[in-house]
Amino acid sequence: MWIDTHCHLDAPEFDADRDAVRQQAAQAGVGHVVIPAVARAHWPQVIALAERHGDSYALGIHPLYTPAAQESDIAALHAMLAEHRHDPRLVAVGEIGLDFFAAGPPQGKEQPPLGAASHTQWASVGGMPAAGPPQGKEQPSGGAASHTQWASVGGMPAAGPPQGKEQPPRGAASHTQRASVGALPVHGLDAARQTWFYEQQIALAREFDLPVILHVRKSSDQLLKVLRATPVVGGIAHAFNGSAQQAQAFIDLGFKLGFGGAVTYDRALKLRALAATLPLDSLVLETDAPDIPPHWLYTTAEQRAAGQPQGRNTSAELPRIAAVVAQLRGMALQDLQAATTANARAALRGLKGFAA
Ligand SMILES: [Zn+2]
Repeated sequence: MWIDTHCHLDAPEFDADRDAVRQQAAQAGVGHVVIPAVARAHWPQVIALAERHGDSYALGIHPLYTPAAQESDIAALHAMLAEHRHDPRLVAVGEIGLDFFAAGPPQGKEQPPLGAASHTQWASVGGMPAAGPPQGKEQPSGGAASHTQWASVGGMPAAGPPQGKEQPPRGAASHTQRASVGALPVHGLDAARQTWFYEQQIALAREFDLPVILHVRKSSDQLLKVLRATPVVGGIAHAFNGSAQQAQAFIDLGFKLGFGGAVTYDRALKLRALAATLPLDSLVLETDAPDIPPHWLYTTAEQRAAGQPQGRNTSAELPRIAAVVAQLRGMALQDLQAATTANARAALRGLKGFAA
C-alpha cells in the first residue's frame, strides 16, 4: 500500500468529485493520504476530510497564503493544535515554509482571495529550466491556472531572501497595529512576513512536539537556519528541489524528502539525479495533488489553446510516479513501496497508528 504524504484534497479543484477522487486513489493502491492545510479557513475542512476518508492531516499556514493571513491566525493555530493534540489524525504542522521564487502581488495592490493563492510548487516546476514541464515562456494554465497567478503577477523572485544577514525588522512596520516586539512585518509576499509566520509555526511545532511539512522553494538555507536554531522532531521537506548538500542537511535534521510529479519530467535532470541517488531511507512519495501534474497529465500551451484542459493531478497517480522513481533507482517497485511507507511513518510518527 502506498501513502501519499501530500495531497490538497481540500482544494476547490476537487469540489465536484472529492469522494470519487479519494476512492480512485484507494483503488490504485493508495491506502493513506496526508492532507496539509494552507490557511486558517481550511483547517476545519482538512480535519473533516481526514476523518471522512480515514486519512490524516496537518494544520498550518502556507507561505504563499501569508499575505492574506492575520497575526491572530498564529494564536488560532495554537488553539487548534491544543484542541486536537490527542487526535491521532493530526500528524504535523504544515504546510509551512518559505517561498523565495514566487512573487506575490506588489505591495499596496489587492491581495488575491484565500482560494486563489498557490499552495504549490507548480510554478517552480514550470519556471526552472532544468525541471519539468515544457520550457519556454508559457505558463501552466487550465487546472493549474489559479496556482500560476502569483508567478505571473511577479514572475520573478521579487520576494527574495532577506538581504545579507539581517533579520527581518520585527515590529518595524509602522502600519502594524501594535508596535510590540514580534509584531507582524508589513504585508504582501515579502521575505520578512513569510519568515515571521514560519518561525512562529516552527515554535508551535516544537511546543506541541509535532513534525513539520515544509514548503521549500529557493529557500532551503533559510529554512535550515531556523530549524537549527529551533529544532523540531523532523518531518518532510515536501517537493524537495534543492541541492544534494541541502538534502543532506535536511536529512541530518531528521527530515525525509518528498518526491512527486516533477520527477517524471525528462528535463528535471537534477531532481531525477537526487531521486536516484539519495539514501533510500530518506525518500517519501507525494502527489501535491491537484498540482504538479506528472508529465502524462501535462498539456502544452498549444493543446490548451486548442481546448484541452490542463490535467488535474490526483493521489491515484502516486503508484505511477513511484514507478518512475523505482526505475530511476533501478529497484523493484515493491521494495520502493515498502521503504517509502516506512519512511513516511518515521517522518510523521502519527502515521504509525494507521494501517498501511
Ligand atoms: Zn502543498
